[in-house]
Amino acid sequence: MKVTFFGVRGSCPVSGPAFSRYGGNTACVLVEPHDSDSKIILDLGTGLHPLGDHLDGLDWQLNGIRELNPVTAKVLVTHLHWDHIQGLPFFPQANREGSKLEIYGPIQDDSSLVHTYHRFMSPPFFPVGVWDLKASISLHGLHGGETMTDGDTTIKVGVIPHQGGLTLGYRIESDFSSLVYISDHQAPSNWESGIVSDSVIELCKDCDLLIHDAQYTRDEFDQKTDWGHCTYDYALMVAKASNAKALALFHHDPYHSDEQIDQILSSVIDQNHGKINKIYAAFEGMTVDLRQHSTILTTSP
Ligand SMILES: [Zn+2]
Ligand SMILES: [Zn+2]
Repeated sequence: MKVTFFGVRGSCPVSGPAFSRYGGNTACVLVEPHDSDSKIILDLGTGLHPLGDHLDGLDWQLNGIRELNPVTAKVLVTHLHWDHIQGLPFFPQANREGSKLEIYGPIQDDSSLVHTYHRFMSPPFFPVGVWDLKASISLHGLHGGETMTDGDTTIKVGVIPHQGGLTLGYRIESDFSSLVYISDHQAPSNWESGIVSDSVIELCKDCDLLIHDAQYTRDEFDQKTDWGHCTYDYALMVAKASNAKALALFHHDPYHSDEQIDQILSSVIDQNHGKINKIYAAFEGMTVDLRQHSTILTTSP
């Protein structure tokens, strides 16, 4: 699988010189199994906009000649908070004839996923609705514990502790490798005791790369204990407890500058004591090649 990060920020998009290296777009990651044309998009944050430019053949400086091809993709949405869904209407391919988006997300108690999404994306909050877009878009609700297959790719779904609605994590197995995506994860208030929920451990067990919430420092978590997230130390704890081989710190706090994320990465590497083979702080444009259980970073910050 080739994994490319287009949005790595949590909660709120940010811009400006303090964020120029890691980037300010919210959660969006493209996964492309090798030897296949299939595309899997993880979350629909504002990073979906540059992802669309990338699929149209433009580089990060928007150089190139835009190719107006439709796209077919499976989309795995973790949950319906703004930072994970608001990119959809700004994905150029979503408003292009011939595009096909199969969107999967957490099942809703009171309504279908399409109606819930439409509540968010319809007047007066937004000028058009999901079904006004030209692409063929379908939305499907998922429960934790479900498994989907697509050719040689298997997708497993797990429930992740968070706040404000059912939240899912995904495990993608392809190319003899496994990737786990846990964007938002509420740590227990006594997280330093090392408690990790069984559903999280089961999803992450022995994975080759874990992409995990690393929003807070210890001090920030003490101020925001029930805001749905965890410390970067807890991300390392989850990776160790589940025997993950590599860890990508993700969902960076909108108040964290590039320098602070550098410090967070150094701190996690210091605490690792060689247990996890590779540790990254995810940045926009980062690509990781996953195959045969090896993880190779193919870009640098
Ligand atoms: Zn989030
Ligand atoms: Zn959230």
